Amino acid sequence: MNIPLRQYYQLLINYLRPQRARALSLALLLLASIALQLANPQFLRRFIDTATTGGDPRTLLAIAAVYMVFALGNQFLSAFARYAGEKVGWTATNLLRRDLATHCLRLDMGFQKTRTPGEMIERIDGDCSTLSNFFSQFVVGLVGNALLLIGVLVLLFGIDVRVGLGISAFAIGALVLMFRLRSEASPHWVAVRQVSAEFYGFLGERLSGTEDIRANGAAAYVMRRFHEIVGRWLGLQRKASLWGYAMWQTNIIVFALGTAVAFALSAYLFSRGEITIGTAYLIFTYTELIRRPLDQIRTQMQDLQRAAAGISRIQGLLDTKANIEDGPGGGTTSESGTDAGGGGTIFPAGPLSVDFRQVSFRYEAEEDPVLADLDLRLEPGRVLGLLGRTGSGKTTLARLLFRLYDPTGGEIRLGGRPVLQARLNDLRRRVGMVTQDVQLFHASVRDNLTFFNPSIPDERVLEVLDDLGLRPWLDALPAGLASELASGSGGLSAGEAQLVAFARLFLGNPGLVILDEASSRLDPATERLLEAAVTKALTGRTGIIIAHRLGTVLRADEILILEDGRVLEHGDRKALAGDPESRFHRLLQTGLEDLLA
Ligand code: ATP
Ligand code: MG
Repeated sequence: MNIPLRQYYQLLINYLRPQRARALSLALLLLASIALQLANPQFLRRFIDTATTGGDPRTLLAIAAVYMVFALGNQFLSAFARYAGEKVGWTATNLLRRDLATHCLRLDMGFQKTRTPGEMIERIDGDCSTLSNFFSQFVVGLVGNALLLIGVLVLLFGIDVRVGLGISAFAIGALVLMFRLRSEASPHWVAVRQVSAEFYGFLGERLSGTEDIRANGAAAYVMRRFHEIVGRWLGLQRKASLWGYAMWQTNIIVFALGTAVAFALSAYLFSRGEITIGTAYLIFTYTELIRRPLDQIRTQMQDLQRAAAGISRIQGLLDTKANIEDGPGGGTTSESGTDAGGGGTIFPAGPLSVDFRQVSFRYEAEEDPVLADLDLRLEPGRVLGLLGRTGSGKTTLARLLFRLYDPTGGEIRLGGRPVLQARLNDLRRRVGMVTQDVQLFHASVRDNLTFFNPSIPDERVLEVLDDLGLRPWLDALPAGLASELASGSGGLSAGEAQLVAFARLFLGNPGLVILDEASSRLDPATERLLEAAVTKALTGRTGIIIAHRLGTVLRADEILILEDGRVLEHGDRKALAGDPESRFHRLLQTGLEDLLA
């Protein structure tokens, strides 16, 4: 993975700047700890030499005391460095996670639909985690360890040139060998990581589809795939672990060799009377001391490689531009008060007119258009009944109005203003949508209704629920508004879920309401509640209802029948119903269910 140094640097600067002081103290702590590690063996040498030459016991005690102080000091420093390191790493990666999550939330539906939740978690959390070490340890750790290594070698050269040369040769040889081994082993680990990511992706998808899988008797098939992946994982894991084991063993042998070299050199020099026993001990200890930096330099290079992969993926994600860009918005903040997104609303107050001008749309570039040259005008306050076979593009039309996607051709206007001009916040506040499948969050009823907006008072929420006839439902919950709901649409019937969606809508004040009716049949009681909710939702607003029931169709002032993304018929409902030639008239005769089933 080749990443320009500038990119590493940029990342470090961006995410360490907010915690400059802490990062700096971390660096100082690590450096101080290195200095102490170098100093400590010197005291031991003095101690041994003083003891073997029959020195003053009080000197011995003094040396021992200083040694203890230094050793304890080193422990404290390490503990603080560890603490600061974790703090720096987590703060930096959390900032990065926040930036990534915010960025992804701004990306459009086209982006979201092509990625599984598992993949997003891996992108936002997994990749950031691999960077934690990079932020907290890498620079200081690598530089520090290199300094420690050089320090030890310099000190050894100071003792005796031959010792210095011998141990240097050993250190270089060990590093080269370990890097070679690692480059052999790392592809195996990459393969393991890949298959584990695949496994969790698979698991996540199947778990979320449990109900369908069981209902369709696909469990055996799923389990076969499960065994297949796990089997592949086992093979790869075994290979990778063997390599890991081999590296570990090699490490042990290499360092045993190092110790042997140190012993041999010391024995030789000691036998010639060139060094004291204390110095022999010092040589031995320093040789032991370079084991850690050697090892850490190796793992840090590995971390760096992992970080590089993470950085390039993160950069890729950050470079993904939303196809849906926020519009410039308007200068006024008139009707609907303040605009959180800056810039005022550009739409007039009250019911909004809807204009589709030669609108075309396709989901994928190569596919046939879902909507083709669609023209439509709906005056403020009118209600349009949108009919059409399944897959004819009804939901798609609603999505375009909401700017979940942008048309590939033509223009959509709302209240006379192009929707592209509006800020997304503004647009989505003025258009209310009740979709076919209502998503609930694992959160309280209150948060589910207000979308986590604490400024809406409880009284208002209760009032809306009362209006919708949802009070008995609420009262049956253990903790009222504070009761936790499960995510998805768990625990609620389709009808209740739709009522909840209406409650969300009433808490805002949209000028256009889009109802994408659930096609499932509801029990009569819920149906009555929903009918009342629809009536209320359409009062004083422009409405587009994608209807699956005759009762709902009859509320419409106009009817539009879509077929293959084109307008098959559009006109006043009563006129169409009275015209025996019209498609709508025939539909009413043969029954809506035929078309809308
Ligand atoms: P229904 O009555 O079943 O709700 P619909 O009229 O709402 O149907 P749409 O959901 O608008 O139909 O779908 C229109 C066409 O676009 C279908 O052929 C569908 O397969 C396709 N389509 C819908 N959503 C996507 C998507 N996210 N990506 C690609 N194609 C899509
Ligand atoms: Mg639909």
